[in-house]
Amino acid sequence: MRFNPKADISGGRVTDVRGGGGGGGMGNLPIGGITGGGIGTTIVVVIIYVIVQLAGGGSGAGSGGPEQTTDRYDQCLTGEDANKSEDCARKAVEASLESYWAKVLPQQTGKQLQPTQIKTFTGGASTGCGNASADVGPFYCPTDQTIYLDTTFFKDVLEGQLGGKGGDFVEPYVLAHEFGHHIQNLLGTMGRVRTQQGPTSDSVRLELQADCYAGMWTRGATGTTDSSGVAIFESVDDGDITEALDSAKAVGDDRIQKMGGGDVNKEQWTHGSSAERMRWFTTGYNAKNIKECDTFSASSL
Ligand SMILES: [Zn+2]
Repeated sequence: MRFNPKADISGGRVTDVRGGGGGGGMGNLPIGGITGGGIGTTIVVVIIYVIVQLAGGGSGAGSGGPEQTTDRYDQCLTGEDANKSEDCARKAVEASLESYWAKVLPQQTGKQLQPTQIKTFTGGASTGCGNASADVGPFYCPTDQTIYLDTTFFKDVLEGQLGGKGGDFVEPYVLAHEFGHHIQNLLGTMGRVRTQQGPTSDSVRLELQADCYAGMWTRGATGTTDSSGVAIFESVDDGDITEALDSAKAVGDDRIQKMGGGDVNKEQWTHGSSAERMRWFTTGYNAKNIKECDTFSASSL
């Protein structure tokens, strides 16, 4: 993966916040149904999840004082910066995702892209879905249409606890998956989720579809542009695809259950197996139309 040094990434919708959600922990997050038996308590089980339900009456207000935006991304102005810094790369990827879906969504569905945003945090954050702690993996909250990310997830959990091989395209895959949840939110797909667990549950279908959308963007990434029409990426190569697939493998439900030291129990799946996640990413990568990502109608996943 290489960004175009000339791309302008000075705008965008990535911010870093501190001071929110103090003392919240995961207790306020409605993450029911994902802590399958056999998963060790040390493994974070909210793996690039979407928070579908709302906290009971919970607003976004944190209990730990005012949230402040930091200067973490102030120096991220160009693709050159993105080639040198993971933080700046995050901004470039967000700009690329927005460019891709702003074009493809209206073309293929007739719906306009509404903005989402990415908020990174350290320690905790207050969200429209309750307070998030550092234990929570990346997630999309539909209530405030925001992607939340504690960036220690990649090294500590995805590579550390789950044994992913890492690489610079791991995070773009995860961001593209979360952006896929935003697309699902805009298309009303989230409202179709009735069953939360099991190998053919709606939850698994929703998650595999987000992987499919991530594959679509990966294929289209090199065609995305900044607001002046300058290409954001110089290249996305086979090594990047391999890294995305390895990450999809690392966050499969069967892998997480095995790494937690337990038996594989399909009835507790919420995101799909490693093989399914890789397959749907690939389906999206090869798709000509978003309809090919219709996991809800698929007879086999
Ligand atoms: Zn997800």
